[in-house]
Amino acid sequence: MTEPPRVQPPTRLWIGGEWADADDGGTFPSVNPATEEVIAEVAEAGERDIDRAVRAARDALRDDSWGRASPHRRSLLLWRLADLVDEHADELALLEVQDNGKPYFEARRIDVPSVAQTLRYYAGMADKVQGDTIAVPGPYLNYTLREPVGVVGAIIPWNFPLSMASWKAAPALACGNTVVLKPAEQTPLTALRLGELASEAGFPPGVLNVVPGYGERAGAALVRHPGVDAISFTGSTEVGRTIMREAAGTLKKVSLELGGKSPNIVFADSDLRAAVRGASMGIFYGKGEVCAAGSRILVESSVHEEVVEGLKGLAAKATVGDPMAPTTRLGAIVSEEQLDRVMGYIEAGVGDGAELVAGGERVRVKGRGHFVTATVFSGVEPEMRIAREEIFGPVAAVTPFDDIDDAIAKANDSLYGLAAGVWTRDIGKAHRLASEIDAGTVWVNTYNQYAAASPFGGYKESGFGRDLGFQSALEKYTQLKSVWVALDR
Ligand code: NAP
Ligand code: MG
Repeated sequence: MTEPPRVQPPTRLWIGGEWADADDGGTFPSVNPATEEVIAEVAEAGERDIDRAVRAARDALRDDSWGRASPHRRSLLLWRLADLVDEHADELALLEVQDNGKPYFEARRIDVPSVAQTLRYYAGMADKVQGDTIAVPGPYLNYTLREPVGVVGAIIPWNFPLSMASWKAAPALACGNTVVLKPAEQTPLTALRLGELASEAGFPPGVLNVVPGYGERAGAALVRHPGVDAISFTGSTEVGRTIMREAAGTLKKVSLELGGKSPNIVFADSDLRAAVRGASMGIFYGKGEVCAAGSRILVESSVHEEVVEGLKGLAAKATVGDPMAPTTRLGAIVSEEQLDRVMGYIEAGVGDGAELVAGGERVRVKGRGHFVTATVFSGVEPEMRIAREEIFGPVAAVTPFDDIDDAIAKANDSLYGLAAGVWTRDIGKAHRLASEIDAGTVWVNTYNQYAAASPFGGYKESGFGRDLGFQSALEKYTQLKSVWVALDR
């Protein structure tokens, strides 16, 4: 394994602008999935720590230094934080690689720069949060104010730890809220560092708190806490259901960005080389641990063989290895538990009669780590588990289709509706699919594109509410107040 340069991982809770131990002194290990070594023992937040963090966030909301800060000030602080993320890009990328197992070049070239971009986009939004003047009958002036929701509890997964932290924190802070962020147990390090950098940028204490811990304990306490006004969650559909139920107790505003089983549809009239590359990248990028992964590759029958051959070739080129090596395309699966899950699905695919045409093997790199080779199944029937359930690993399920109607029916035959890809040179067909596929994002002749300005989220059981975007952020992180003023007295 290439020896990574040393970085000091953060190990304590970040509450009220200070490092703190857990009230009960508890810790949990953060493990490097590529080496199976413990990177750090990290303080584990329990109910009392969540309470402390929520109080810090509530105090910050009322404090003039944040509660009355001008929108320009919020904008400036977000911009400064973006600059600090850029300045610490190497360190943040390393921490992310050690925690998550993704290749260093992905973390350094894609994740970290996109975090800085997201922060800058919302720096630009902070002073554009405004209401309307509304024409009403009678001698009245009526206008609306867009006010912060209050304390936002953000709960995020382990696949893009720092990006997910920025997707939640940047718009919430731009709108004047305060945040208590619970990162995933597998990947707490970069979120903690982001909290510290926010203070360095000048955010007042308590505006962004970071409380690592377990979902059932720290996460659940955050969802139940009466001092939290909104929960912004990204994670599995199963946990999303629990959160919605638990949030009902205090009637919190909830938004859920959940799982997916996204179809990537290849028509015979597409640029087939580009389509095969796009389908391959769509499932293997980020080890397939991507909520929008194009895990169902639907292929028009006449080009099915050709596409399967192409995918097979590219799977063989998806080098599994040390995340720090520049040649590595597939890093380590985030945890042993997740690797077992992925291997379980590969066995299920074989057991259900799908044809394993590439990969399917668990491997170790220099005798250690949780790795799996890029895997392609062909002949996948729509009712097989590998076609219906989210695997969250580098496993493609290829299914042929007959015509455009069949493609649409198969694409929509899922409980999920997060994203979809369409590959065709026929512009009419492309727009018809964009309209008829039930998904929050449709990519045409491309895949896995994201930008801070473009809303992202799910249809159906992939959740509701949108991350990113302008209007969607306003809806999520502000509440609307209507003010009436009598003009005749
Ligand atoms: P997960 O198990 O649902 O966990 C997500 C977060 O919720 C973690 O921080 C987790 O803590 C916490 N959590 C677990 N149980 C909880 C509870 N009862 N109350 C409150 N919080 C709780 O998901 P994951 O395995 O980390 O991530 C993979 C999933 O995320 C996939 O399904 C994927 O599709 C989805 N995802 C969706 C998007 C999107 O934008 N739609 C983006 C990325 C990922 P622990 O770490 O302790 O479990
Ligand atoms: Mg989990």
